Amino acid sequence: MADTDKKKLPRKDLPPDARIETLAVREGLPATQWGENSEALFLTSSFNHPDAATAAARFANEEEAFVYSRFTNPTTMMFERRLAALEGTEAAIATASGMSAILLMVMGLLKSGDHVVCSHSVFGSTISLLANQFGKFGVQTTFVSQTDVQQWRDAMQPNTKLLFAETPSNPLTEVCDIAALAEIAHAGGALLAVDNCFCTPALQKPVEMGADLIIHSGTKYLDGQGRVLAGAVCGPDAIVNGPLMATLRGAGMALSPFNAWVVLKGLETLSIRMAAQSANALKLAQWLESQPQVDQVFYPGLPSHPQHALAMKQQNGCGGAVVSFTTKPAQGPVTVPGPATLSEDAMRLRQGAFHVIDHTRLCSITSNLGDTKTLITHPSSTSHGRLTEDQRLAAGITQGMVRVAVGLEHIDDLTADLARGLDTLNA
Ligand SMILES: *Cc1c(COP(=O)(O)O)cnc(C)c1O
Repeated sequence: MADTDKKKLPRKDLPPDARIETLAVREGLPATQWGENSEALFLTSSFNHPDAATAAARFANEEEAFVYSRFTNPTTMMFERRLAALEGTEAAIATASGMSAILLMVMGLLKSGDHVVCSHSVFGSTISLLANQFGKFGVQTTFVSQTDVQQWRDAMQPNTKLLFAETPSNPLTEVCDIAALAEIAHAGGALLAVDNCFCTPALQKPVEMGADLIIHSGTKYLDGQGRVLAGAVCGPDAIVNGPLMATLRGAGMALSPFNAWVVLKGLETLSIRMAAQSANALKLAQWLESQPQVDQVFYPGLPSHPQHALAMKQQNGCGGAVVSFTTKPAQGPVTVPGPATLSEDAMRLRQGAFHVIDHTRLCSITSNLGDTKTLITHPSSTSHGRLTEDQRLAAGITQGMVRVAVGLEHIDDLTADLARGLDTLNA
């Protein structure tokens, strides 16, 4: 049966040139017969059919319809359609978390003997999933520099099927060149996937730079209020509703309709949140750069950032909402706990970072990001705590580093919160 003959679910009648702000509040599915204005939450595991023949047609995939919520669900589909519209991809498939989006993509597209090239600066669990879990199943990954394009080119093999990037990186905010990586991928017959968690489509649209697949942790800025776990893969219809849907149906990493509903509503304010949080982050980064107790600030919106020009080009002129900085070492006796393997100098840096974090009253001490509340963390002892100190230093993450995921509080309250620790650092 030709795909064009297939009975499809209806689409909303939206202007074809509707902009991202419009799509973020309008894209989804048509309302039910009750005419609800706010998108409905369909908490149902299965769906009824009018008769046995229709059920058979739906199970045979001759008619697009809702059958079972592990496959599709109206609320989940509204989130998928809305996110795809924002990213500018034909389709999206929702998953239970950001990690399960990566799991779905790799399970769905790769097989034993295939090869992946990935930045060594991607999210820690992504490295572990690729290196340990997929390594076990015969999918090998070569990890390369976030910023040195030549390393990606050199890592290509005849069996390379996927390039995986995340930009900007965590916590150093290093930016990779999406268009250059897309060119390398396509020249080698591979796909480029970009984890767009830090920028979201409000700031960065990787498909416009040649990326094939977009990965999201909906847990972060898409929800934007730290409430639920969610994830998605966005891309061409032939991949998303082909091998990825087939894998999701069997493997079951489906997003709960409730979580889909929360993130769907979060998307409505994505553009204004990203603009406001990015503006707050720029002010905070500029202020940090002028503080004598701060050693270095890592933020793509600052001209001092090594890939500032590239970031401004890729990220719609915005730096994003994550700022990292290093403090000067603390003076006096070391009192904070730390592994015995750390040098005295490293412990003084750690004490400086802990001092600043512990003097905040507004910021939440947590390693999450993408919340309206400002979150503060010490990467060396949390998100990157499982690495050895040598591995961390090779990656540029020192004991003096503090990461701030900037929220929506007033900027003067945020600078005052950090000043409390910075001002007394060497007192
Ligand atoms: C948090 C995060 C993930 C994983 O998402 P979960 O929803 O926590 O599974 C993947 N990539 C990046 C960049 C993240 O920040």
